[in-house]
Amino acid sequence: MIRRTVIAWFLWMAACWGNAFGQMAALRQDTGYTAIAQNVLHDWALSYREWHTEWLSCLYGEVRGDTVIIRYSIPADVKPSHSMPTTVVPQPAGQCVQTTDSLIGLAHNHPQTCRGGNGAACGFVVNDSGSMHPQDDANNDPCFESWPDIRTFVASRLLVNVVVCGYSFNKARIYVQQRGAPPNDKSGVCSYDPELDAPVLKCGKS
Ligand SMILES: [Zn+2]
Repeated sequence: MIRRTVIAWFLWMAACWGNAFGQMAALRQDTGYTAIAQNVLHDWALSYREWHTEWLSCLYGEVRGDTVIIRYSIPADVKPSHSMPTTVVPQPAGQCVQTTDSLIGLAHNHPQTCRGGNGAACGFVVNDSGSMHPQDDANNDPCFESWPDIRTFVASRLLVNVVVCGYSFNKARIYVQQRGAPPNDKSGVCSYDPELDAPVLKCGKS
């Protein structure tokens, strides 16, 4: 039922904005929909494939009804030395470029090089007692927010937080949290085929 609703909604989205802004893929959570432009989904998969340390991107778009629309992303202002395997620290002031569009969210990656036995490059988040970043343990699924991630998102007062957390040739993974949704809700864990012109998000526990 939900899947049918999402597909119908996706087709409607494509009809409304497909020509003007490119294709969108959408996911539904209790707090509403998140629609993500194809260029952003392609870029996340490509970036995830290449990066061994964390990056941070600023997400721009708008809200229409109960839908947060992510139209494009721009890298945050981060010094190379501040991009590390389990954390990224942007410049304290002006981390996101000002544009005429609204800043609506943030995205960062959980690099896979920090998993699979590469423990030396991982380690605990410094000065954050009791919190371990998901990729510190190779047995953990990286598609989750750590406590620092959640705190940063809440403090930002932005609408959406994305963790980019997987890549293979035909399967990329992301975790999406909308403001107001419980953190680490499985409905926000999604996969998609980044080789499609217009990727479709498959979200939830399955
Ligand atoms: Zn994180």
